[in-house]
Amino acid sequence: MPVIDACEVIQNEQVGPGLHVVRFRHETIAAGARPGQFVNVRTREGFPPLLRKPFSICRRDANEGWFEIFFKVVGTGTRLLAELQPGERRSIIGPLGNGFGLSHRLQHAIIVAGGIGVAPFPFLVEVLRRQEVSVSVYLGARTRNELWGMDLFAELADEVFISTDDGSEGFHGRVTEMLQPRLPELASESESIQIFACGPEPMLKAVMQLGRAFNLPTQISVETMMGCGFGICMGCPMPNPADRAGQAYKLSCIDGPVFDIHEVEMEWPH
Ligand SMILES: Cc1cc2nc3c(=O)[nH]c(=O)nc-3n(C[C@H](O)[C@H](O)[C@H](O)COP(=O)(O)OP(=O)(O)OC[C@H]3O[C@@H](n4cnc5c(N)ncnc54)[C@H](O)[C@@H]3O)c2cc1C
Repeated sequence: MPVIDACEVIQNEQVGPGLHVVRFRHETIAAGARPGQFVNVRTREGFPPLLRKPFSICRRDANEGWFEIFFKVVGTGTRLLAELQPGERRSIIGPLGNGFGLSHRLQHAIIVAGGIGVAPFPFLVEVLRRQEVSVSVYLGARTRNELWGMDLFAELADEVFISTDDGSEGFHGRVTEMLQPRLPELASESESIQIFACGPEPMLKAVMQLGRAFNLPTQISVETMMGCGFGICMGCPMPNPADRAGQAYKLSCIDGPVFDIHEVEMEWPH
């Protein structure tokens, strides 16, 4: 069950240009969270901004009672969060959303992360490794100094592949272009393999196409703009492919933010 509470900031580390990892103390959220869930954060006391801002739970330690968010400064809310000091408190609701679904047959996880979409994966990879699932991480960013998590994944995962759009680190091109040549081989393991992806919409569309074309079980975590975060405001509908009239939509806050690629479309039917 999600809780709403004032969470104390333990640390705020700048890890790249406009990129921050903020650690909050809260035993119940830390203990209750599952990989792929998120928290909805009041970025300041009072207004504006009116709405809370959603962030994936990036890592947590249930024993020590903390969880972290990783974010990029894009507007008012994230700018306020970037200024947080240890000891300050912010109202947070969480854990929210469904989280990643992990098959008990899973033996090999393929993580595809684009830019800030890397955020939910440190937590997921920690859980998978504890379950002795082998993990391959495909990490992409626009440029080298927007890559985050390489050291962490090098420690946790079995293999890490890096791409940058400008070629400043690793494979020169998109993360899905780096992954695609490996998919025919991976498709032969399809009983025991799952792809997990989070990133910008064009990347998620490309992952959906690949997952469908190679018939690989694939889950995407979407970052649709949302309001309340728990299904009341109806502000985050996702098109449902089973419904051509565009009415039986899914809500990304409660039905997601993680969806099977056969469960949603990224665009509304025309
Ligand atoms: C479930 C979920 C998990 C998320 N996890 C993370 C995370 O772990 N790390 C992270 O950095 N971000 C994450 N996001 C996105 C994050 O919530 C937004 O970046 C944040 O709300 C921006 O707030 P702001 O007040 O700084 O920007 P605003 O002032 O609200 O907006 C600044 C600009 O960014 C655009 N924008 C804002 N939110 C979004 C969005 N969700 N998608 C596309 N464009 C947007 C606005 O249109 C505007 O142009 C997540 C979103 C969702 C729904």
